[in-house]
Amino acid sequence: MTIRNRIALQFSLIVASILIIFSVLIYFVSATYRREEFYDRLKNKARTTVRFLIEVKEVDRELLKIIDHNTLTALFEEKVLVFDAQNRLIYSSVDDQVIHYRIALLNDVRNQKDVETYSGQNELIGLLYRQNDHDFVVLASAYDQFGRSKLANLRLTLGWGLLVGIGITIGLGIFFAGQSLQPISQINQQVSTITARNLQQRLDEGNRQDEIARLAMNFNDVLERLHQAFEQQRSFVSHASHELRTPLAALKSEIQLGLRRPLTVTEHEAVLQNLMSDTDRLIDLTNSLLFLARTLETSNQMPFLPVRIDDIVFMAKDELMDAKPNYRIDIDYKNIPDSETETVVKGNEELLKQVLLNLFDNACKYSDDHTAQVKISTDTKQCQIIIRDQGIGMADADRQRVFEPFYRAQNALGYDGFGIGLSISAKLIELHQGTLTVDSTLGEGSTFTISLPHV
Ligand code: ADP
Repeated sequence: MTIRNRIALQFSLIVASILIIFSVLIYFVSATYRREEFYDRLKNKARTTVRFLIEVKEVDRELLKIIDHNTLTALFEEKVLVFDAQNRLIYSSVDDQVIHYRIALLNDVRNQKDVETYSGQNELIGLLYRQNDHDFVVLASAYDQFGRSKLANLRLTLGWGLLVGIGITIGLGIFFAGQSLQPISQINQQVSTITARNLQQRLDEGNRQDEIARLAMNFNDVLERLHQAFEQQRSFVSHASHELRTPLAALKSEIQLGLRRPLTVTEHEAVLQNLMSDTDRLIDLTNSLLFLARTLETSNQMPFLPVRIDDIVFMAKDELMDAKPNYRIDIDYKNIPDSETETVVKGNEELLKQVLLNLFDNACKYSDDHTAQVKISTDTKQCQIIIRDQGIGMADADRQRVFEPFYRAQNALGYDGFGIGLSISAKLIELHQGTLTVDSTLGEGSTFTISLPHV
């Protein structure tokens, strides 16, 4: 069942139940009111009749009967019977009919003084009338023709009203449910046209206020992120092939040069040396690409545990110094941490070490003195690692792009590297809920700052 039909059905059921409850209530209240009113009329009739009969000497039975038959307010099938203490019928307003009554009823009236009951379709009341120590029982019955026909009319009106009301409710339910779900159908249509090829397409965000508009806005955010991821993937592939093509082209021209004419042994050696260094570069590049792919793929599944970031800083320094002994890395605390936990962050030791290795390596690589100044600083919320060098620095335009994969500043082209490290580092720090920022002046040096929330 569609949501539209379900909402319409629920709405109709609720309104129909309310209508039915109200109709039944109105009917029962009216029916009770009619009965009470009719009993009151019967009682008045009974009292008047017995009073005329017993107390007014001028009125005898025959005269009373004439009065009874000729009053304008006579009721339909009206009967009034008066009994004395010995259950003898001393007055009957009708002579020509067989009169049924039960002795038990007369006794009930004597006990309860006032009885309201039915005789077939007719209402019947019994009253005890006491006069000079003589008890009389009066029974009065009649058919409430007027009241019952009014009630039948009400039943008919309520029945039709209910049918029409429920019909209108179902119609309105379907209409309004359709109206309020219309934007969702539109979004549905728009979403079905979005494919990997047109990820830049966006959904209509309507009034940007209601729930459906917010759904569209969130979906657009997801589309934006997907689009960026696709674009990154695309540019990664084109950059990677470009990076691979350059050393391969160099290899090819070396080989062509070697084949062009017979070479001496020394020339052969030189060609092979060149081939060797180009192959090394290719291997380095392939390793970096593999590392990039593997890190991005597996970083989500790496365990994140509380680790001491200052320990990792020292580990990264030792590892880099082992590989490149001519580098210098000075580590210092900017402030004494207030507590033990201020340098403990929730993260992965291996990934954080990769980030620090990359930043230390860059600082030493891009500065003549091959020196990196590292400062560890903490506050109540964050722990910061600041890596400063006095190297080549970078222009403002480069500073804004160095975190893009394969981006290398013009002044860095003379140094080894592929422009992959910083993009991986930024992603890994983002994964740790932290930030990696850079501040730099061309020709003076750069400062990279890692900020991580501590536990
Ligand atoms: P790579 O160093 O292999 O080129 P990175 O991703 O680590 O790759 O760095 C990207 C670019 O950022 C570098 O090519 C360089 O232009 C710039 N860069 C990074 N670190 C520094 C630094 N300490 N000083 C100057 N430029 C830097």
